[in-house]
Amino acid sequence: MKIKNNFYIVITISVLMIALSISISLINFMVSLRATETDLKTRSLPLTVDNIYTEIQKHVIEPNLVASMMAHDTFLKDWLMNDEQNSDKIIRYLDTIKNKYGMFVAFLVSEKTQSYYTQNGFLEHLSNSKSNNEWYFKFKKLQGDHEINLDFNNNLDNSLIMFINHKIYDNDYHFVGATGIGLKISYINDMLKRFRQEYNFTVLFVNEEGKIILSERTDTKIQSLYDTPELRTLADQIIIKDSKILEYQKDGENYLLKTKYIPELDLYLLVEAKLDDFTKNVRQTFYLNLAASLLVTVIITFIILLTIRGYNEKLEFMARNDTLTGLMNRTAFNELFNDFLLLSNRSGDPLSLIFFDIDNFKTINDTLGHQAGDNVLIRIAELLKTRLRRTDIIGRWGGEEFIIGLVDTDLKNAELIAETLRKGFEEDSRLAHLSTAPVTASFGIVTAHTGDTIDTLLTRVDSAMYRAKELGKNRIESVLGY
Ligand code: GH3
Ligand code: MG
Ligand code: MG
Repeated sequence: MKIKNNFYIVITISVLMIALSISISLINFMVSLRATETDLKTRSLPLTVDNIYTEIQKHVIEPNLVASMMAHDTFLKDWLMNDEQNSDKIIRYLDTIKNKYGMFVAFLVSEKTQSYYTQNGFLEHLSNSKSNNEWYFKFKKLQGDHEINLDFNNNLDNSLIMFINHKIYDNDYHFVGATGIGLKISYINDMLKRFRQEYNFTVLFVNEEGKIILSERTDTKIQSLYDTPELRTLADQIIIKDSKILEYQKDGENYLLKTKYIPELDLYLLVEAKLDDFTKNVRQTFYLNLAASLLVTVIITFIILLTIRGYNEKLEFMARNDTLTGLMNRTAFNELFNDFLLLSNRSGDPLSLIFFDIDNFKTINDTLGHQAGDNVLIRIAELLKTRLRRTDIIGRWGGEEFIIGLVDTDLKNAELIAETLRKGFEEDSRLAHLSTAPVTASFGIVTAHTGDTIDTLLTRVDSAMYRAKELGKNRIESVLGY
């Protein structure tokens, strides 16, 4: 009953501890999740966007200056005015520019003759009907005096080229042609790749119409914002000049999207982050925390159970045994002896009882102290345990009185056993040493008869023991008959 109660307490404590560790882990998890999300929104994403922007600016500013310088170059203007005489000169000029600044191409278009020159010489006559040449006619109509174009140039090995085009005006501010440079922009692809690999960010550039102009080359699945339903609904918020942070779901996953307009390219920069990629660690920590706290709970529960079990065993032992000698106490002895008595009554097997009291024990206590008396009692118990059979039951009745139940033993045999004990005490040198004189005891012996109870037997054996005292102590007296 007691153990069961304790068990319920342990279960309750364990459940509470588990609940506590789960809620602490959960709160931690929520807080970390929120922190990661906030960090992503307020730091990582904006910083990445700024980095990309800075990097692009860095790569665009110098070529733009070169192209601008070309457009204002008087040599170039004069050459156009003078009917493009001696094209070697302009080819050398373009070649010098190309080599000096490490460009991919340096070009010049004459409005008058519609001729297209590069550092390699005259290339073609531009025509409105050639799709390749469309850029020039669009550029001509453009409001500003320059533009940046991203183009896959068919003439130039079909790689992605960034063209910086500048208009050339004569002294009367008439449009006379276009010049500029082209650069291979593989660095952009490298940059996009780096941001994906190192930071798990997907970077895209889209134009005014939502068309994806630049993305990492492997990522060719979508060509326009309008190709995915999630981005289509957000397009209005993406294609605006203000930088934004947007949240949306795609295939059951949460995404964050940071946008920024890049005026130099007239493109919108989009940096996308899948929230899961960033909260992976947080989730792992959560599971780890949970596992660790559950493990600790299990260990603590186990320790508590073991401790309680040990404590219970001790309590139980103390309830049934004498703490000084370790022998059964009166209650335990009575219980056990009663069982033997019932068995003996049924089977007819003899059952005997020895009851003895140490002689002049008070003197030992009085002269040598209580501790010496205790040691004598301990030694007596030791002797009983070694001298008696395993089937015999031994109890300390109280004070210096002991009781022994002898199973399957008649009076005669009980007398023999009692006699060995009496002699054993008297002759034990340890006892003599402990009490400075031989220790003796007076014994009463009784055998059970039909109808005997433990009480009737005790009454008789007690009187036999007293008779032994009266007859001079250190002797054995048996109860004969009833
Ligand atoms: P008798 O020969 O007639 O038995 O004399 P006695 O001195 O042995 O008997 P008495 O009943 O006068 O004294 C028993 C003493 O045993 C008294 C009591 O203080 C002491 N005693 C009882 N229990 C313990 C115990 O656990 N330890 C010690 N040291 N003494 C105990
Ligand atoms: Mg005594
Ligand atoms: Mg006594």
